[in-house]
Amino acid sequence: MKKHNFSAGPCILPDEVLKKASEAILNFNDDNLSLIEISHRSESFVNVIEKARSLALELLGLENKGYKALFLQGGASLEFLMVAYNLLNKKAAYLNTGTWSNKAITEAKAFGELIEVGSSKDKGFSYIPKEYNIPEDVDYFHCTSNNTVAGTQMKTFPETNVPLVCDMSSDIFSRQLDFEKFDLIYAGAQKNMGPAGATLVVIKEEILGKVERHIPSMLNYQVHIDKDSMFNTPSVFAVYVSMLTLQWLKDLGGIPFIEKVNAKKADLLYSEIDRNPFFEGIVAKEDRSIMNATFNITDDSLKEAFDKMWKEAGINGLNGHRSVGGYRASMYNALPLYSVQVLVDVMQEFERNQK
Ligand code: PMP
Repeated sequence: MKKHNFSAGPCILPDEVLKKASEAILNFNDDNLSLIEISHRSESFVNVIEKARSLALELLGLENKGYKALFLQGGASLEFLMVAYNLLNKKAAYLNTGTWSNKAITEAKAFGELIEVGSSKDKGFSYIPKEYNIPEDVDYFHCTSNNTVAGTQMKTFPETNVPLVCDMSSDIFSRQLDFEKFDLIYAGAQKNMGPAGATLVVIKEEILGKVERHIPSMLNYQVHIDKDSMFNTPSVFAVYVSMLTLQWLKDLGGIPFIEKVNAKKADLLYSEIDRNPFFEGIVAKEDRSIMNATFNITDDSLKEAFDKMWKEAGINGLNGHRSVGGYRASMYNALPLYSVQVLVDVMQEFERNQK
């Protein structure tokens, strides 16, 4: 039986997507060829990438609104650089909510003045800064919607007249937001979309063309837009699996449906973390992530016993990020509610065993 996969990323994908993906590796579209041995310019693959791009926009409610969807390579980490390369003239504002924002800030510093408008570094990134002002004269404001490492999530986004750029790597397609508020959204595929190797970039085209520097072709959003995301060979397998996952989500009822399921999963686990005296949550309650729940065991001497129990229950990937330790249960879209119930049952049995 498949393990209950709480891995933070790469992570769980829907079973039916994995099945279709494995079939396509052997025989794609009944063409007696593998998906990964046909030309990316073939009609079969062009249809795949076009469908993936249009499904991404459709699920976000951004069709016919001046947005383009791209499937690029280099991970979200390359977007830290590309965002600044393409948008930063003089000044940009960043919200620092942890590891990933920090990395984005580091890359952007090479291109202009960086204003850190808020930071939760003072408390180990265990909350989302709320009181901050975005100067009117910056080229854009950048934030990370979900801190995958600490387990915090932005519940609201600032009202601002400057372009809003967001790294949604670990919570895209998981909850309803007013996506039109954003001018550029990027996300590595390997959480709610597909395998590692593709990065989704959704961009409002009108924000481009405002920097004077020469932008190398591969780093230039406009080049990728003009070439329909096929400037060079895309990561065909990652794009195909992303397309299947987006179709799976659409068939389920899209983001409004999955948001309810995700809320149930998170409620179930956080209620147990708060109830069970052997565990404690790590981050501010109001900023808890629906995707990545982080928690500690209250008595470290019991850690070995707890680890043995969850592993025996068929649970995978519960260890916290290597930089912070503790536990992290990642509950991405494809994780069934049942898997969360199994974890909660283990936590309750663990409590009973201590009596
Ligand atoms: N941003 C966030 C929020 C992430 O969780 C990650 C990866 N876990 C990254 C950026 C970096 O992504 P990649 O490994 O695709 O470069």
